[in-house]
Amino acid sequence: MLADIDFEKIWDVKGKLSGCFEHCDGRCEYEALSIFLPGEAEFIAKKSGIAFNEFKENYLSAIKYHDLVDNKDYIIYVYKLGICLFLENGKGCRDETKKNFICKTYPIKGELITGKLKIYPDPWCLLCKKNKLPEDFKNQMTALWEDIGKKLPEWWLRGIMIIDRAYDYSKLNKLRDKEVVTTDELLKCRN
Ligand code: SF4
Ligand code: SF4
Repeated sequence: MLADIDFEKIWDVKGKLSGCFEHCDGRCEYEALSIFLPGEAEFIAKKSGIAFNEFKENYLSAIKYHDLVDNKDYIIYVYKLGICLFLENGKGCRDETKKNFICKTYPIKGELITGKLKIYPDPWCLLCKKNKLPEDFKNQMTALWEDIGKKLPEWWLRGIMIIDRAYDYSKLNKLRDKEVVTTDELLKCRN
């Protein structure tokens, strides 16, 4: 299943969202998680020429998620809990090559609703709320979600529906260097 996700296609997508900080407080960089697709952190580490263990130690937090449907524990990687190490001067990403699928496509999101993937612009994002999301960005990232979404395992889609929330980063910081964080610990840090 993991081998089916076309990480090279995601890697090749450039797409810079403009207008964010004119319209927004930067909430997705200060309250949200940057969640990796299954296998994607390993892919980005390899592309960056960094051994995965080193990449994990320096940049990632591991969230242990128990999926009730599969009755199985899974690990979902995110960039280290709290402020991302690639955030430049509080505004924008200083290394486009480190952007994962979720970073690249946000504020377009996907959600599993009665077994079907619904793709939509996130109304929590102020660009979307103010109807200022550039149409070309929206179309490009919706098409990417439609393509990649077909290959995403359902446990991961169920998992992100639980962990993809707004958080208080001062609470998340306390979990930043923990080797594995459970969803219960994580969800106690919600805003
Ligand atoms: S929440 Fe939306 S407008 Fe605000 S920084 Fe993120 S993408 Fe930009
Ligand atoms: S990798 Fe870049 S876009 Fe993604 S969370 Fe970090 S700073 Fe933001």
